[in-house]
Amino acid sequence: MREKLAQIITDEGRRRRLQYLTVFMLLGIISALMTVLNIITRKGYLAWATGVFTVLCAVNFIVMRLSKPGKHPDGTCYAEGKGAFIVSMVFVVEIILLFTFFIVSGNPEGFSAIWVVMLPACGMLLFGRKQATVLSILMFIILIFLFWTPIGRSCLRYEYSATFMMRFPLLYAAFFFLSLLLEIIREATQKQLDQLRNRYEYLSAHDCLTNLLNRQGLMEEHQRIAAAEEQAVFILDIDHFKAVNDSYGHDIGDLTLARVAQLASRIKDARICRWGGEEFVVWFPDARSMTDPDALRQAVENMVVQIPNSSKQLKVTISIGVAKGSGKLSDLIARADKALYRAKENGRNRVEVDA
Ligand code: GH3
Ligand code: MG
Ligand code: MG
Repeated sequence: MREKLAQIITDEGRRRRLQYLTVFMLLGIISALMTVLNIITRKGYLAWATGVFTVLCAVNFIVMRLSKPGKHPDGTCYAEGKGAFIVSMVFVVEIILLFTFFIVSGNPEGFSAIWVVMLPACGMLLFGRKQATVLSILMFIILIFLFWTPIGRSCLRYEYSATFMMRFPLLYAAFFFLSLLLEIIREATQKQLDQLRNRYEYLSAHDCLTNLLNRQGLMEEHQRIAAAEEQAVFILDIDHFKAVNDSYGHDIGDLTLARVAQLASRIKDARICRWGGEEFVVWFPDARSMTDPDALRQAVENMVVQIPNSSKQLKVTISIGVAKGSGKLSDLIARADKALYRAKENGRNRVEVDA
């Protein structure tokens, strides 16, 4: 349950949908109970108002449940969706009408008006900072009009005390500023959380030296992509790489790895992964887009690594194992690995294809 909630709060669209549903349900239950209370205490037209509001909450809840969530362009997360947006706008009108009615009727004993202080906080939760600010200010203007102007006062059907009418809008304003402050803090926290999540998601799926996918990243891509029946894999390994480290040092080894990765990453329609150490996997989700492995081998052979602060240059070669077919990616990689082993045995700097 907690995990599910944590997943939802990191997705703005889903979070807002859940908040709407929760608020509609809570308000629906509260106003249903108020309706019962109003009927028992014979508050005739107040019972009508809360009764109608209960029905509206139920309708909002159902429409929100049935409305299709939108999707972000990357197709992964839920966004708010058109239906949800229309329901939220209708809800704004309903809320303003209900609260205005509460203030004007004042029943019982002026208490209904006090519910209005809930509006800024609920508004922030539901509509976000900008819309809620507009809504809260609109309600504030209505309050000022009804409590502080002679025309407004003449509309009231309840005799509020002068002190109440003077002070209540100020109490409302205090609640509004508090809600605004909390929403600003929540937004900032959410933003930081999103940035951190994106960063850690990236780090967990990529290798920081080459910026290629790591094993975990390749497996995630494999699960995400609808691969064709026939796929292809190259597995490539830098020849005598230990000697590079031994002769030029680890930093130059790293530089060489990054340069080989750069060449491999130019391959189109493939996912390139640093499989480990000085080994890379190139996965073609559709074997029809497989490129010539020997072109990559030649590109590496022609690559020159300039040693920084020196006139020395370094050249490396790679051996490649290739496998094509259907079935599990791990089996395909294992077959390509066998072919790579043969490429090494047969003299390195060559391509071997799994039979
Ligand atoms: P072969 O042609 O048979 O592949 O020989 P090799 O020397 O390339 O293979 P071996 O497995 O003996 O050595 C791989 C070397 O790669 C050893 C290790 O220090 C080095 N290596 C692995 N990861 C890194 C890295 O991130 N940076 C650097 N600089 N070296 C690495
Ligand atoms: Mg190796
Ligand atoms: Mg090697």
